[in-house]
Amino acid sequence: MRLQEGVATAGPYGRQARQLEWERADHLAWVDEVLEAVSFRPAPAEPAEVVIAPLSRCLLRPFAAVVLPGCDHTHLGAPAAVGGCLSEAERRDLALPTREQAWQRERLALRHVLTHPRLSLSWRRSHQGEPLQVSPLLEPLRLALRRAGGDWPAAPQVLVPQTLPACPVGPTQPSAPALLPSQVSATAYEALRACPYRFFALRMLGLEEVEVLDDEPDRRDQGNWLHAVLHAFHTTRAVPSDDPQADVERLLAIGRAQRQAQGLDEAAFLAEWLQFERLAPAYVEWLHAQEAQGWRFERGEWAVSAPGGGPADLRGVLDRVDRLSQGERPPRARLIDYKISSAESLRTRVRQPLEDTQLAFYAALWEGAAETAAGAEGLEAGYLALEVPVRWIEHPQVADSAAALRAGLAEDLARLAAGAPLPPLGEGPACTHCAAAGLCRKEHWTAVRQEGLA
Ligand code: SF4
Repeated sequence: MRLQEGVATAGPYGRQARQLEWERADHLAWVDEVLEAVSFRPAPAEPAEVVIAPLSRCLLRPFAAVVLPGCDHTHLGAPAAVGGCLSEAERRDLALPTREQAWQRERLALRHVLTHPRLSLSWRRSHQGEPLQVSPLLEPLRLALRRAGGDWPAAPQVLVPQTLPACPVGPTQPSAPALLPSQVSATAYEALRACPYRFFALRMLGLEEVEVLDDEPDRRDQGNWLHAVLHAFHTTRAVPSDDPQADVERLLAIGRAQRQAQGLDEAAFLAEWLQFERLAPAYVEWLHAQEAQGWRFERGEWAVSAPGGGPADLRGVLDRVDRLSQGERPPRARLIDYKISSAESLRTRVRQPLEDTQLAFYAALWEGAAETAAGAEGLEAGYLALEVPVRWIEHPQVADSAAALRAGLAEDLARLAAGAPLPPLGEGPACTHCAAAGLCRKEHWTAVRQEGLA
């Protein structure tokens, strides 16, 4: 706007400006245009103290000091990587920069850098076992120094050896009686038996892994969906049917409805669905065989809690309870846990009944639940392997396992309530997929004899 003193009013510009009349809108449009025409560039806050630049960018730039690393023969003065698929002759014919020219440019830049009064050159003596030499570009400098009766000075020793006290990482043994949960599930008790520290981290501190968002259905989605399908199938089936085909069709229809209700993408769920189409007739066949023996579905997805005989109660959800009425003889109850694992792995699980916590826990829940007449009927429990054919894997003498589990659980919880430590005792498969592995830091333990913890 030339508003400097004296300029705005004098000369032809001043005369013209005095005659000019602006509409407000025109004035704003002009201001807008002028301001848009330039970019705001804030002044640098601080002058840069360290500049990292390739050698070619150091030409004619003043620096207070220069540190030039990588002065070995493979980096400084090495054959320049120009050319790509073109030969040196072809590049020359096409008037493109040749390797020779690139090398000359590098020499020129180096000559400039070597004029700096404060200069440090460094190079490695070996790389991956291969010895490295100083760059041939520096040899003339060294010869010149030697002719003058000197040599380049060795770098001052700046690495000062220090002795630090050893701080080995070892297993921790927390004790937290105040954090003892008031209820324990089968999974929690399994965690306690597999590794007390895992129980401490996940059940007492309540830490959990952050779920990775993934729209692909995984095995957990498949398991949840299958549980919901079978529950809906049985709760809407008033009486046993003698038409297996009708049962299969109803099961498939419920499967489709549940898939939709749970928002499972049809395409992404295709493999699980094809599996289910094979499973449905096999499941109905198994069911009809059980019904022919007199077994009847009684209830499913049953949330139960029972006194644990110690400082915490037991709680859990029983997948399904079937009952067998036997006339004069006392009825029998059967606890069924649906599994999509293979029958073989489930057989291995029940081979050592006292190691199979889950079914023993469910049996203890059943016996302790107020609604059941404990002891008045026979009890059996097992896994139902949902594969083709469907297999029933029974936990032998589950009532004995339940009694042992109740006693062990009460004792374990009483010890924890009294302040017993919770050392990380997990081994092998227990540690493979452990969510608390980052906390117990087992990978970082130094040689500590774990037996001492037990
Ligand atoms: S990684 Fe192993 S030792 Fe560590 S908390 Fe998990 S189960 Fe226990």
